[in-house]
Amino acid sequence: MKAKFQAIKGMNDILPEQTPAWHKLEALLLQLMQQYGYSEIRMPLVEKTALFKRSIGEVTDIVEKEMYTWTDISDDSLTLRPEGTASCVRAGIEHGLLYNQQQKLWYMGPMFRRENPQKGRYRQFHQLGVEAFGFAGPDVEVEQILLTHRLWRALGIDNDVVLHINTLGDSESRANYRELLVTYFNAHKEQLDEDSLRRLNSNPLRILDSKNPAMQSLIEQAPKLSEHVDEASKEHFERLKSMLTAAGLTFQVNDRLVRGLDYYNRTVFEWMTDKLGAQGTICAGGRYDGLTDQLGGQATTASGFAMGIERILSLAIEAGYFADYSEAPHVYFIAMGESAEVQAMVLAEKLRDELPHLRMVVNCGGGNFKKQFKKADRSAAKIALILGEDEVQQQVIGIKFLRDDRVQESCSWNELAAQLGSFEFTD
Ligand code: ATP
Ligand code: MG
Repeated sequence: MKAKFQAIKGMNDILPEQTPAWHKLEALLLQLMQQYGYSEIRMPLVEKTALFKRSIGEVTDIVEKEMYTWTDISDDSLTLRPEGTASCVRAGIEHGLLYNQQQKLWYMGPMFRRENPQKGRYRQFHQLGVEAFGFAGPDVEVEQILLTHRLWRALGIDNDVVLHINTLGDSESRANYRELLVTYFNAHKEQLDEDSLRRLNSNPLRILDSKNPAMQSLIEQAPKLSEHVDEASKEHFERLKSMLTAAGLTFQVNDRLVRGLDYYNRTVFEWMTDKLGAQGTICAGGRYDGLTDQLGGQATTASGFAMGIERILSLAIEAGYFADYSEAPHVYFIAMGESAEVQAMVLAEKLRDELPHLRMVVNCGGGNFKKQFKKADRSAAKIALILGEDEVQQQVIGIKFLRDDRVQESCSWNELAAQLGSFEFTD
């Protein structure tokens, strides 16, 4: 026997039994984006490596160890996108969408990171990303947070998640704070783990993000970011908080929330849950006013977030959101005998013309009545249409109710569409 192939570790097939939940969630997300006036943009999965290095930052988990990078035949270094913001800003600059304009954009698709696969953490995973350009105030941030909260409510998971917010200040106050941190951690160098030592001079803020239990008390006593934020950013943050409160949202100010990517300033936020083990963040984002300039465009303000679709699906499945949702056929069309098989195809096409929302499987590959009924039953269809040679002679068709205790009916071909239409399948 030949050796079988397996998918790459951490890159999952999404199987037919799983795709209905994806469809339902995707339809909900599209509606949500339209409710808030966001337009979809679709970017390629591959970009120049330098784009991610320059935007995400050289000393970040993603760029240091998680990117799928290779040298193309043209000698370009290319990378499978690990996130969408960099590509979105690149596309926005390239097509002049960000120049003296306001834009509200979203995208959804696979992202690639070479991490240790575990539940809720994959090497190919999906994100919905939302980015607004040209809005300087906290109003757009509040709206983005309200949008996500509306989604949690629709999915029935709003009691499972908590909103954490923080402000990073402007780049100057961040630089000053960074100096303080380096001094502080240098004075306690012997307590730093390997990762933190590496970050000490390159990205000391990320030390605050460490999950290593042995370092927690050292981090607790480190200088606080909030005490070193500039006045304008503080005021921005105060306005954000009061708008969130006015909108009825509760939140936690989390002084240690710094985010793993370099491009953020001022507001950062994360929605966290304790229902997914260690993979607790389902949605994360913030303001990144410096990025378009950094990537060669005209400077413009920006704010956005990304949510992890797999983690949100897990929570929503757990909450029973998909319990009643099915994409099983409404109708299974049984045909026995040569002329009946031909007629079945003709009748089915007519039904599809007249009832475009009807989900119907026409039996292919023959088989006796018993075998076809078995297939109809397994398909989970509610109704079997039955066409034998006698029915063809009389131009009628049998309607059998597979899930209800209801006697079989017979219907003329002319009235079939109207009859099926009257059943009002609910999904
Ligand atoms: P984490 O701290 O879990 O590694 P992150 O800070 O790297 O997350 P972001 O880059 O902010 O994550 O991505 C936004 C969201 O995408 C995360 O909150 C999470 O829900 C999801 N996500 C990130 N990495 C993965 C992954 N490898 N597999 C599945 N979902 C992921
Ligand atoms: Mg990560």
